[in-house]
Amino acid sequence: MPSIVGRYTFAQFGADCLHVMREGKPYVVTDSELDERTAQVRDSYRLTLIRSVIFVPLLKEGRSVAAMAVHDATPRQWKQHEVELVQRVAGRCWESIERARVSRQLHEREQRYRFLAESIPQMVWTAAPDGKLDYVNEQVTSYFGTTSGSVLGQGWLEWVHPEDRLNIVERWKHSLETGERYETAFRLLRSSDSSWRWHLVRATAMLSLHGETARWFGTCTDFEDQKQAEIERRRTQELLQMVIDRVPGLVSYFDSDLRYAFTNSHYSEWFGAGPFVGRKVSDVVGEEAFARAWPYMERAFAGEEVRFEEFLPYHSSKPRYVQVSFSPHRTQHGTVNGVVATVQDITAQKTMEEALRRSEERLQQVFRQAPVAIIVLRGKDLVAELVNPFYQNLLQGRELIGRRFADVVPEIGSDVLQASHHVMETGDPYVRDEFYIPYDQNGDGANEDHWFNLVYHPLREPDGSVSGVVTVCNEVTVQVRARQELERLNRELEEFAYVASHDLQEPLRMVNIYTQLLLRRHGGDTPQAREYASIIHTGVNRMEALIHDLLTFSRIIHSEESPASLVDLSAAVAEATSVLRDRIEESRASIAAQQLPTVPGDTAQIAQVFQNLLSNAMKYQQSGTRPEIRITAECDDVNWTIAIKDNGIGFEPRYAERIFGLFRRLHKDEYPGTGLGLAICRRIVERHKGKIWAESTPGNGSTFYLALPCRKEKT
Ligand code: ADP
Repeated sequence: MPSIVGRYTFAQFGADCLHVMREGKPYVVTDSELDERTAQVRDSYRLTLIRSVIFVPLLKEGRSVAAMAVHDATPRQWKQHEVELVQRVAGRCWESIERARVSRQLHEREQRYRFLAESIPQMVWTAAPDGKLDYVNEQVTSYFGTTSGSVLGQGWLEWVHPEDRLNIVERWKHSLETGERYETAFRLLRSSDSSWRWHLVRATAMLSLHGETARWFGTCTDFEDQKQAEIERRRTQELLQMVIDRVPGLVSYFDSDLRYAFTNSHYSEWFGAGPFVGRKVSDVVGEEAFARAWPYMERAFAGEEVRFEEFLPYHSSKPRYVQVSFSPHRTQHGTVNGVVATVQDITAQKTMEEALRRSEERLQQVFRQAPVAIIVLRGKDLVAELVNPFYQNLLQGRELIGRRFADVVPEIGSDVLQASHHVMETGDPYVRDEFYIPYDQNGDGANEDHWFNLVYHPLREPDGSVSGVVTVCNEVTVQVRARQELERLNRELEEFAYVASHDLQEPLRMVNIYTQLLLRRHGGDTPQAREYASIIHTGVNRMEALIHDLLTFSRIIHSEESPASLVDLSAAVAEATSVLRDRIEESRASIAAQQLPTVPGDTAQIAQVFQNLLSNAMKYQQSGTRPEIRITAECDDVNWTIAIKDNGIGFEPRYAERIFGLFRRLHKDEYPGTGLGLAICRRIVERHKGKIWAESTPGNGSTFYLALPCRKEKT
């Protein structure tokens, strides 16, 4: 018979068939071609080639759920026992189908749980009541790097950290005995990297119907990563605490209850021993400080960053200035649930600021009251930034501040501006004495003459660049005028001295001549007359010497300043000694001079200096001693210094300067002289841009020094 599986339905074999089967009875057809019941559906029988059939229903709990049929291609008279056989076979088949289905379902369920157990990341295992493992999931074998065969039937004690073993054995034993839930943590060796990792191990007893342990069901959860994270978190927290404790000043956090949730270690330095966490802010800082801070706290709780300074006269013996900041701390939803507070002690800073302010004030005072004119000019345009009253007084009625100096004082000479620009460009200060600045001080339209001692100083920025000029001016117009007047008077006086000394020579010569005539012609050859004549002669000689020296002095003054020619100093000494030849021989003086240089100067004038100095060296000599004079020279790049040293009577060092003055004499009566020799020397040396000075100790000789420039000064 060809199979009809999947091709025909019951209904196609007639309504009767279905009806009978539903009633749970067999449906038997002997010949489908002849049976009345199949008349309607004969085609179905023909197509399937079925001529005779036994249909038997399969019942489940009294309900027909399927059927079984035996077909024959030929008509057949079915026997009763055949029908019963089919019924029995159908019944057996059904049972076995049912059993197969249940076992398939069981298998599927088992597969599902196994899949579940294999796919969760934890280790899952079951153990017999005695604790021997009888199932482990994949996680277990891969963690220990072994096969399930070597794990099953035993435990995993060998993979437990030695330190943890004792503890877990005890606990496991206890659970096995009592059936109590087992829960503990221990380290297990991971084979992949040989590391010990912490696991939370749980096992629950599954009880049998009789209440005995049938099996242990357990899991191991690796929490090493969480543990490490926890350690890391704790370390970070400790670090944070340490950092916050190192922050100078107070750091705290308080919640909306105004209780501290965190304080750093400085709290105990300020407010005594803690702990502070959990305490009210007002309780810790005191009601008074709290009351002052409260309005700011309120703003912080409203979401604002607040910063303020406060003076705290209370709390400790030392009043402090503090800077307080409150920062709102928001939750994820944006509401403020706490405030981070920092309090910095700024007492030192405040004290310094105060000191700075005071010193600035003092400086301002000095600036304002200084008896010199000060102006600060800023930038390339030299814009006036600061002007003290003294300066303002120099430019009465002119507005200076914020304006270009050149605009305010247009009549000012370009050299003043150039000097300022030079300071701006080079950063070098500019100092100038008696700078002539004609300008209109009173605002009457006419420039007057003014002289100033000026200092232009660069104003430097912190990076070293020059951003302006400080000008300090000291008006010296009165002094310059007085000096000019004095110079004029001096010139007149010198003129007078010159004319007078010149004109006095003539009458003196007359006195000399006529005294001689008087003696010769009128018999004055008496001792008395000779004595008088000698007195007149001495007087006249002294007068002549004085006039001679005065004339020399005047000539020096009238001679050209800073002579242009060169002088061979050795030649100048030679000239002086030749003039003094008689005196040298008379006193048997020895004069030793080393080879001397040539310097710019006037030979006659320098010879005059040597003549005066050598003459003094011989004159101021202990009686009976032979004068010894040495002339030496030294050069220091700029000057030649000539020393003229004698072995004479010397003088007190305190007179060393005074003896260069006009008519100044220390040894008036014992030694002849006019008191003009050294004054002449000084004038000559000064006209050569040099210097002259003396050193001496009484009884030990004197040394006179001349310093003369080696080169002519550039003009
Ligand atoms: P004077 O005509 O009196 O010598 P000077 O001007 O040459 O005038 O000298 C001034 C004074 O300096 C002298 O009167 C003398 O007292 C003192 N003096 C000058 N040279 C010497 C010297 N070499 N030793 C000691 N005293 C000296």
